Amino acid sequence: MTVRNGREFLSIPGPTTVPDEILAAMHRPAVDIYGGELVGITESSLEELPRLFRTAGRAYIYIGNGHGAWEAALANVLSAGDTVLVLESGRFAAGWGLMAEAMGAGIETLTGDQRRAVDPAALEARLREDKDGRIKAILVVQVDTASGVANDIPALRRAIDAAGHGALLMVDAIASLATMPFEMDEWGVDVAVTCSQKGLMMPPGLSFVAAGKKALAAHGEAGMRSRYWDWTAREGELHYEKYCGTPPVHMLYGLRRSLDMLFGEGLDNVFTRHRLLAGAVQAAVAVWAEGGVLEFNITEASERASSVTTVLMNGGHDPARLLDYCREKCGVVLGIGIGDLGGQAFRIAHMGHVNAPMVLGTLGVTETALAALDIPHGKGGVQAAIDYLARSVAP
Ligand SMILES: *Cc1c(COP(=O)(O)O)cnc(C)c1O
Repeated sequence: MTVRNGREFLSIPGPTTVPDEILAAMHRPAVDIYGGELVGITESSLEELPRLFRTAGRAYIYIGNGHGAWEAALANVLSAGDTVLVLESGRFAAGWGLMAEAMGAGIETLTGDQRRAVDPAALEARLREDKDGRIKAILVVQVDTASGVANDIPALRRAIDAAGHGALLMVDAIASLATMPFEMDEWGVDVAVTCSQKGLMMPPGLSFVAAGKKALAAHGEAGMRSRYWDWTAREGELHYEKYCGTPPVHMLYGLRRSLDMLFGEGLDNVFTRHRLLAGAVQAAVAVWAEGGVLEFNITEASERASSVTTVLMNGGHDPARLLDYCREKCGVVLGIGIGDLGGQAFRIAHMGHVNAPMVLGTLGVTETALAALDIPHGKGGVQAAIDYLARSVAP
């Protein structure tokens, strides 16, 4: 027996739920790519994307995924032999660093704790050791989608400034942009990347890179530039040049709708919605954890992300059973643990096109699964989430 018929609900931290408005905007026949409406969509998107990153700099749109955005960012500002410092906090910054290494950079890693945010004091100390300024760029994620941590980017910028270091600050905002504040210029971020299938609520397929003044200056000297990713080539006049070839037509219609939805709701409201829904999830997990088996991966409450919560499952219980029950019996797809947390954790996404019924439904199914599978847990997690929302969302 199951109670899964009806629309399956995807609660993994990317790709995220695509709203019907975006699907509908994409559902159309092929259009001309040399003139007409599509050219206007490119122009307005390139103008508004910097507003999403909160920069007066430039934004570039690529056909690609997050890995494409990583490569695009590196290729435009680095040269072979440059040293990059990777700030470890989970899985993704390390992945970006390996890509830099494969492209010919030397990498150094500021080893982090898989359960905490990057320590700004450790960064400052490491940069003070780099007396001759060998480190050209610092790679960090704002939210690590594996560990569920949110790094404090402004604090990391202050650490760089305190050390008087001139490295470029490059931030992976893939799992955070349009889910929590990101102030590229105010925080002194030089390069930021994101892609379409997380907070932007679109299918995978587009990646975005934003570049500030200092990054654009570094671009002039960069030796890793290659034709497809090259920012200068993409500044060409022709529509075709903006994409180094055929534009991703239908994705651009989706992007236009995504930006309209985000700016229509208002970014501050988008962030507040995510913060409140994250609070509801955290309230539930805190109660479940009283059973002694489940535990937040991120130990410091203030370092937990607004977009994803990673829950450890201890005591020899297999998260796969929980995920299978949620999917097969109840039609909710939770995220698996990835990287070092494979087989030891599950993840609840609250990122992008999510609202209270989606999150409360996901929590309700998760608690149903915990009960059905006899996984010890504190009872009343969903009630705690309800109480939290009732307290936090004013009538
Ligand atoms: C999803 C994700 C990526 C990778 O994106 P892909 O589209 O899978 O290449 C990189 N960084 C973070 C923080 C992510 O959440």
